[in-house]
Amino acid sequence: MSEKKQLLALEGVFHIPDDPSQPPHLVGSRCRACGYTAFPKRAICPSCLGRDTMEETALSRRGVIETFTVSNVAPPGFKAPYLQAYIRLPEGPRVFSVLDAQEGDVDMGSEVEMVIDKLAEDEQGNDLIGYKFRPVPRG
Ligand SMILES: [Zn+2]
Repeated sequence: MSEKKQLLALEGVFHIPDDPSQPPHLVGSRCRACGYTAFPKRAICPSCLGRDTMEETALSRRGVIETFTVSNVAPPGFKAPYLQAYIRLPEGPRVFSVLDAQEGDVDMGSEVEMVIDKLAEDEQGNDLIGYKFRPVPRG
C-alpha cells in the first residue's frame, strides 16, 4: 500500500506560517543599501552588487499580470492547456508562476493573488505543493 505524500516543489521560496489564520507569502530579499527587492532571494544585490546587504523580506500576496501564455504542452504531472504568467509585485520583483485560471478569465493588468496549492502529481502519485496565482475574487 502506498501512502500519498505532500511534497514541496520548491524549498525556501515561500513561507507558510504555523498560525493557520495567517496567509502564506513568498520570500524575497531586499537590499538595505539601495532598496532593490529580488525574488527568489539573492545573496548579492543584482542592482548595486552590494554584499551582505540583502535581507529576507515577505512579499505581497497580490500582484498584477504583466504577460501570460497558454501552454498546450504540459510537463509530466500537469494537465494541458494551462496558463503561465509573469506577475509584477508591488515591491518590484517579477514572478513567473502557474496561473490558476482559464483563458478568458484574465488579461494583462488583471489583479491576482498568491496561493499555496497542489501544482501537480509526481510519478508516485504524490502531490507537489507550491505557489501559484489566481484571479482576485471580485466583490
Ligand atoms: Zn542594492
